[in-house]
Amino acid sequence: TEFTNPPIDPVLLENIKYARYTTPTPVQKYSLPIVAGGRDLMACAQTGSGKTGGFLFPILSAMFTYGPMAPPPDNNYGGGYNRTRKAYPTALILAPTRELVSQIHDEARKFAYRSWARPAVVYGGADIGQQMRALDRGCDMLSATPGRLVDLIERGKISLANVKYLVLDEADRMLDMGFEPQIRQIVEGEDMPGVHDRQTLMFSATFPKEIQMLARSFLKDYIFLSV
Ligand code: AMP
Repeated sequence: TEFTNPPIDPVLLENIKYARYTTPTPVQKYSLPIVAGGRDLMACAQTGSGKTGGFLFPILSAMFTYGPMAPPPDNNYGGGYNRTRKAYPTALILAPTRELVSQIHDEARKFAYRSWARPAVVYGGADIGQQMRALDRGCDMLSATPGRLVDLIERGKISLANVKYLVLDEADRMLDMGFEPQIRQIVEGEDMPGVHDRQTLMFSATFPKEIQMLARSFLKDYIFLSV
């Protein structure tokens, strides 16, 4: 395949082949080297452009290369069933709707296949107890709608202390839906590593003032990509 510049993890490459993706879409082609180079990214891309792969491929490739994060000392990870166990995702993807986070999660499962990374998904309007039990089965890459994520953080079920990769997908739609307070609570919360201790990627179909302001507060020295 042409998914070799820059080189990506062989497990991921196998999964991409298995999905029958032979050629990266433009957003994938440009985002891969930017994200692999450790830079923050503001990308203007439409649905259907392959933007999901644009953030999943470089993040999964880096996660596979660096291996699982050591769980924080206060966590009882791996100690068998424990109803108070906290989830510590390495990658967090925020998106506006249940449909969108479910689609992202399905892609994450497809491309994390045969790896140690466990994708998980949470969204509003569905049973929270069931989602909490699902988080106990592993949560390295979490796709979430903002409101439900805030709820789970407040319940002590999720900590963002381990987040190395933060993605805001369809940022303009999230603002249109009134999620800015929840997004700020999540990204500016004391739990979330600061802008210099994480890599942040923002995707938006449009780039109005509100999105430019969000990019200025959440991203550092970012590269702007428009496809
Ligand atoms: P997205 O814009 O991420 O929602 O992707 C739109 C559709 O294109 C999805 O059905 C993907 O599975 C598909 N897709 C994404 N990247 C590729 C690729 N490199 N080759 C073939 N299909 C792709």
